[in-house]
Amino acid sequence: MESLSLPEIISYANDFSPICADCTCSTCKHHTKAYVHHLCQTKELLGLVLLMIHNMHHYMEFFEAIRSNLRNATFLAFKENIVSKYLSHIRRS
Ligand SMILES: [Zn+2]
Repeated sequence: MESLSLPEIISYANDFSPICADCTCSTCKHHTKAYVHHLCQTKELLGLVLLMIHNMHHYMEFFEAIRSNLRNATFLAFKENIVSKYLSHIRRS
């Protein structure tokens, strides 16, 4: 699951898929990237609200995964996986 900034969604004007295919937030379940793009381009507040819903859902799931890994004493492996993904992402950018 990824978070999107406003410049990133500009390229999604004709993309009728959800922001994240595997996301279970109400934005991804009910709206497309093209629709969110349209709302942001026309400066409709709903566009920012839909992005906020998706981003908050993403953060809530991330922190739940942290709590779960702390409870299961698997946090170190979880952290190393996150750091590895982050480093490979910034190397590609
Ligand atoms: Zn979502």
